[in-house]
Amino acid sequence: MKKSNAGLQDNFGRTIEYLRLSVTDRCNLRCRYCMPAEGIDPIKHKDVLSYEELLRVVAIAVRCGVHKIRVTGGEPLVRKGLVGFIRDMSGISSEVEITLTTNGILLADMAADLRKAGLSRVNVSLDTLREDRFEQITRRPGLQRVLDGLHAADAAGLTPLKINMVPIRGVNDDEVADFARLTIDHPWEIRFIEFMPVSGGLDFTPENMFPAAAILAELEKVGKLLPELRQGPAGPARMFHFPDAPGRIGVIPAVSEHFCGECNRMRITADGRIRPCLFSTEEIDLRSALRRRASDAELEAIMRNAACAKPERHHIGEKDFRQGHRRMHGIGG
Ligand code: SAM
Ligand code: SF4
Repeated sequence: MKKSNAGLQDNFGRTIEYLRLSVTDRCNLRCRYCMPAEGIDPIKHKDVLSYEELLRVVAIAVRCGVHKIRVTGGEPLVRKGLVGFIRDMSGISSEVEITLTTNGILLADMAADLRKAGLSRVNVSLDTLREDRFEQITRRPGLQRVLDGLHAADAAGLTPLKINMVPIRGVNDDEVADFARLTIDHPWEIRFIEFMPVSGGLDFTPENMFPAAAILAELEKVGKLLPELRQGPAGPARMFHFPDAPGRIGVIPAVSEHFCGECNRMRITADGRIRPCLFSTEEIDLRSALRRRASDAELEAIMRNAACAKPERHHIGEKDFRQGHRRMHGIGG
């Protein structure tokens, strides 16, 4: 793959090397921090980027220096043909790492095929280890299927396996320690992510946030927490481990701290909008250009302009922050 001269630069000295690609806004769960009780009005099929369009976008992004792609959604595994799409994407360049974030419900049956298709790793989202609570949080049963999915991913070599847990005050914050203990028995990375009130109309409000400081206090009850030195542009997680534990712990203070200065990512929604920042409502339309058969040079220019639209930092948690209309399942989390 021939690379363009310069990487995707923004106006604040950051280089965009990581693309999060949402392939659908639909989902087989209804997590209360992500979707409203009444369900969603999904993007119409005709408005969702086809795999052919997505592959074109990926090829151009890779030419501009993107070397990590995370497939997300909604729930990416509910979209038909996903394994073939991953295979085609991994054919674009051997230098690109392809990862996926999933709720794990369909993972047990798909893990081996995903690995064969070229997927490197998965992040599995799981917020409780208790069946009744699983149903309370996701409004669907399915804990055992997710646990089976985790083990299938491990066996298929989609490793190191990462588990995303969002502690919500008064709902599952008492399970932080239980999740942390998983790292003592398994070589897994448990990532505690602060609840982000990016949109309204959900069951949880900013008062339900369980901040990073409270997460760390829970972790310290389990054992001596050893901080790890950061190696390279590691992203937002602050990493720790317990002495002699095979697994690791990440704490992602998405709201209570700024890691914007190190941000190297952009998102593309399932309906083809580039979202330069998760917390800003600004979006750049890529789909119209794709559908009028714009040249690769034009698409590249749109991507470069989108990188320049990245704000210097986010304002979530501050007085002037405005929640947007897109919920997390529509942005691509
Ligand atoms: N359906 C897949 C899943 O759940 O892993 C992928 C999409 S989901 C939107 C991606 C991630 O966003 C998940 O780890 C989920 O827990 C997280 N997420 C969703 N809404 C969130 C919120 N309001 N605050 C923090 N994390 C959230
Ligand atoms: Fe679905 Fe993931 Fe949102 Fe839960 S967090 S409703 S699994 S998209």
